[in-house]
Order: sequence, then structure tokens, then C-alpha cells
Amino acid sequence: KFIAFEGGEGTGKSTQLHLLAQTLTERGIDHVVTREPGGTKDAEALRELLLDPAKSWGARAEALLFAAARADHVDRLIRPALAHGQWILCDRYLASSRAYQGAAGGISQADLTMLHQFGSEGLLPDMTFVLQLDPDVALARAAARDVGGNDRIGGRHKIYHAQVNDFFQSFVQADDPAVAAIAAHGSPQDVHRRIVSILFP
Ligand code: C5P
Repeated sequence: KFIAFEGGEGTGKSTQLHLLAQTLTERGIDHVVTREPGGTKDAEALRELLLDPAKSWGARAEALLFAAARADHVDRLIRPALAHGQWILCDRYLASSRAYQGAAGGISQADLTMLHQFGSEGLLPDMTFVLQLDPDVALARAAARDVGGNDRIGGRHKIYHAQVNDFFQSFVQADDPAVAAIAAHGSPQDVHRRIVSILFP
């Protein structure tokens, strides 16, 4: 199974990913934890370029770099692991491209579909969890955590993050059984239980 964790900054998706990894270990389910952009040595090198605050990529260049990172990640890590029967737990994937490069960055959803098709040869998650939290709460959490870190919050306006959050909201309303909205308030264990009850009903 291929599981993607999505959501705006500060929604707790990385925490949830690691809690699910523990649960899979307890259940004896072999899995790989990975992230986008990154996940392989060479895609991590692209991540550094993408998140370098000294650079300011244009929207199309940024979208192409994300697609290149995904191609390497899918070819060298995700598809081989799935072929071995391992689960993939991926921190961000296609929905993030649609939210950040698309809704906030201005690349059309049709172009992102095309780039995803080319970059991943159309690989989609079996389940995408979209963590949802009041955007002000999420941004405050992210700002508290990321001071001086490798984030892009400082360089981006609140409106950019509002567009990202609005997109994630509409993404879960699209009524796709492979996408689940997860209420991200409450303790990490509360949120974890919501995720487990969907995966192991
Ligand atoms: O999930 P994480 O916070 O590690 O994401 C790293 C950064 O990459 C975030 O600041 C996010 O804004 C950015 N990103 C992006 N477009 C994507 C994936 C991530 O702008 N498709």
C-alpha cells in the first residue's frame, strides 16, 4: 500500500506519519518512511535547491524541479519498495503539488496532471490522508517550530498559505474514496486513532 500524508504547515502530518509507522511495526507490516521533495539521495539534493531561501525559482522552474524530484523518488524508491510488498508512508505527494505549485503558485491543475504523469508515470497513492486544522492554529504551530529552520514560511505571505489550505479543503471535498480528511485537532494519539480506524476498520 502507498499512503500519502498531506496538509498545510503545522498540521502534524509528520508526527502522524511516524505514529502510523510504529503501529505498522507492531502489526508486523514492513514499510518505508519517506518524504517529498526528497526520499532518495538525488531527490534530496533537489530538495536543497528547492528550499534554499537564497534562490527564488519561477513557478514553472519550481514545478519542473518538483517533478524531477518525484521521478527519481518514484523510480528508485517507491516503485521498488511496493514491488517488494512494503508499504510506503510518504510525507507529501501529488496533493502538495496541486496545493503549493497549483492553487498557490499559479500552475494550472491540467499542467500539474501532465507533469505528474510524466514524472511518476501516473503513480497514485492508495490512500491520501489530508490533515485539517484551523489555518491560524497551524501557522502558529509551524512558526514556533520552524524558527531558523529550512521552511519557506518566512518568505511567503499568509495569503499563500491560505490558498494552500483552501486547496486542501476542496481536495477532500472531491469525494474520492482514496482521499480522507482527518481532523487534526486534539492530541497526537487522538488524531492517530482517526487514521488507524480508516486503515484498519
Ligand atoms: O512537509 P515539509 O514542511 O517538510 O515541506 C517542506 C517545504 O516544501 C514546505 O515549506 C512546503 O511549503 C514546500 N513544498 C512545496 N511544494 C510541494 C511540496 C512541499 O512548496 N509540492
